Amino acid sequence: QAITADMIRQSVKEQNVEFLRLMFTDINGIIKNVEVPVSQLEKVLANKMTFDGSSIDGFVRIEESDMLLFPDLNTWLLFPWENDGGKIARLICSVHTPDGEPFVGDPRNNLIRVMEDAHKAGYTAFNIGPEPEFFLFKLDENGEPSLKLNDKGSYFDFAPLDLGENCRRDIVLELEKMGFEVEASHHEVAPGQHEIDFKYADAVDAADNIQTFKLVVKSIARKHGLYATFMPKPLQGINGSGMHINMSLFNEQGNAFYDADADEKLSPVAMHFLAGLLAHARGLTAINNPTVNSYKRLVPGYEAPVYIAWSGTNRSPLIRVPQSRGLGTRLEMRSVDPTANPYLAIAAILEAGLDGVRNQLDPEDAVDRNIYSMQDTERKANHIQDLPSTLHNALKALASDQVVKNALGEHLFRSFTDSKDLEWAAYRQSVSEWERSQYLELY
Ligand code: ADP
Ligand code: GLU
Ligand code: MG
Ligand code: MG
Repeated sequence: QAITADMIRQSVKEQNVEFLRLMFTDINGIIKNVEVPVSQLEKVLANKMTFDGSSIDGFVRIEESDMLLFPDLNTWLLFPWENDGGKIARLICSVHTPDGEPFVGDPRNNLIRVMEDAHKAGYTAFNIGPEPEFFLFKLDENGEPSLKLNDKGSYFDFAPLDLGENCRRDIVLELEKMGFEVEASHHEVAPGQHEIDFKYADAVDAADNIQTFKLVVKSIARKHGLYATFMPKPLQGINGSGMHINMSLFNEQGNAFYDADADEKLSPVAMHFLAGLLAHARGLTAINNPTVNSYKRLVPGYEAPVYIAWSGTNRSPLIRVPQSRGLGTRLEMRSVDPTANPYLAIAAILEAGLDGVRNQLDPEDAVDRNIYSMQDTERKANHIQDLPSTLHNALKALASDQVVKNALGEHLFRSFTDSKDLEWAAYRQSVSEWERSQYLELY
């Protein structure tokens, strides 16, 4: 049921839409908006809206600054909140060069490009079900985020302990109004931490959904006097926030990861794909965990992965194969955190998996024990490698992984690593409280 320009014109009239939000995503996964009054609708529909690309991190140099926004009409959506009675609608856009070509530095265009590889290999969809986690903090009297949690609740606790529950329920209602199919929402392990899972969708739609989701969560939280953050490890000593990525390839027959006759009912495609994810796990890490803070989450003891292994039961390895079979047969990559640019992460994960399928890689045996509690020597004997432990090491691993580099393409690889090298350099020069408390008096 494709949405046409006429359907949009009609919706504008019937729903009293006053503003159009043209959305796209920069290299760091940050949502960018060009908001225009509805009087510009025809210009928007004719792909004639321009913006200054040089003002966006990782896009283009000043000389080639005038970029075009091509709206994807199927992403037409009215935000449930209003602006003085008038409605705001959004369209997610692809960025194009002044001569109309898809811009290779646009992460969304890149994911569309990479999906072609899946189609060529005979797959109709790369389904992605994300599990984004986030913290709700109180706003202080100036409306600035504080580090005060608003509840003492814990996993699956009920009100009245869970004061964030009202806020989360409100978020779920707004998401549903926007057409999200919310499958589960619960308090997470840490106080103030929440998770909302919505139904899987094909790669590009799933990435669009993740971006919209973050926007909605942040907007609704503010209405409750709270601040929602997707920072991976805001507080030391308690769980961080991940964004597990559930995934499966579908073909005309259904779920290509399912095979009723195979061992564990997992098809050879699923096993090769899994092996590809493991083989490229180190190269994928910079994309899946792109901030300095991401690596404060990837430490033992907090349900976040540290080691490269897979399991059907245990939650400590990088990849878990949930018990569900049939249409729900899937792999869950547990390292990804919500600071990942979803367009880049999904593209890179897909290429890593397809590389395993193409080369018929086989995974090591499953490790169904708690890897955190294994001795180093034991892990070595089981060929269990570590994930990169810093952004710097992850960037080095990315630079030496040609498959993941190809998933980004030359332009995105360059702008991503340039931007992240700067981030690492800035971090390296900072001196933290921890260091002062350790060394100032001792030496
Ligand atoms: P967990 O067991 O890790 O808590 P959940 O049940 O909360 O996982 O999350 C399930 C996620 O997986 C949902 O987003 C769901 O839509 C998604 N999912 C279900 N089946 C598939 C599939 N075949 N491919 C991809 N994602 C799927
Ligand atoms: N919060 C954990 C993480 O950092 C995940 C908890 C869970 O299994 O849902 O990945
Ligand atoms: Mg969770
Ligand atoms: Mg999970």
